[in-house]
Amino acid sequence: MTEWIWPTCCAACGTSHQGRLCHHCLPVSLHRAPVPDDTSLSGVFCLTGYAAPLSQAVRQAKYQHDLGLMRTLADAFADRLTPALHNAPIDLIVPVPSPWTRTLHRGFSPATVLAQAVSRRSGVPMVQALGIAPGKRQATLDRVSRRRNLRGRVRSRRPAPGRVLLIDDVLTTGATARAGSLELLGDDSTAVWLAVLCAYRQDST
Ligand SMILES: [Zn+2]
Repeated sequence: MTEWIWPTCCAACGTSHQGRLCHHCLPVSLHRAPVPDDTSLSGVFCLTGYAAPLSQAVRQAKYQHDLGLMRTLADAFADRLTPALHNAPIDLIVPVPSPWTRTLHRGFSPATVLAQAVSRRSGVPMVQALGIAPGKRQATLDRVSRRRNLRGRVRSRRPAPGRVLLIDDVLTTGATARAGSLELLGDDSTAVWLAVLCAYRQDST
């Protein structure tokens, strides 16, 4: 009866488990990932590579609109990211923006759910400093087209002075993070880091 109320399998590896994710699928700490080419990011933190079992849970949360699972991922992310911030002190947390049409369809913005959890855990304020106009989905485009598709669509909405931590769920080419960091640095921000759940290129530096 309880499995109708609460899932009893890990969303990443499928093994029997009380709760959404088993301990085997959650890395104990974040990694430093390579900074994408041609960005002004000061550094990138990621929880896992996109090929790892945990990425299955990220896909489920995003594409099956599973807010409960995204919150579980966000809490684990916040637990592991907060200690890393002692070596990279920041003033503000900014979620990478999603078009409002996508957020309406999904019911939530994964980046905002993650950023809220990190803000709660670390005590660093979160501000929705960036907005993005609706356009083609980045996931359907190649590297060059992604950058072209974003041109002029990512905009600063509120000031974000000081050192900023951008937060997103997945890092692929870095086009959205690049556009966001350029907007922030062109405004009041003095440095921008990025933290993501999954990175395609996780060979640590
Ligand atoms: Zn598992």
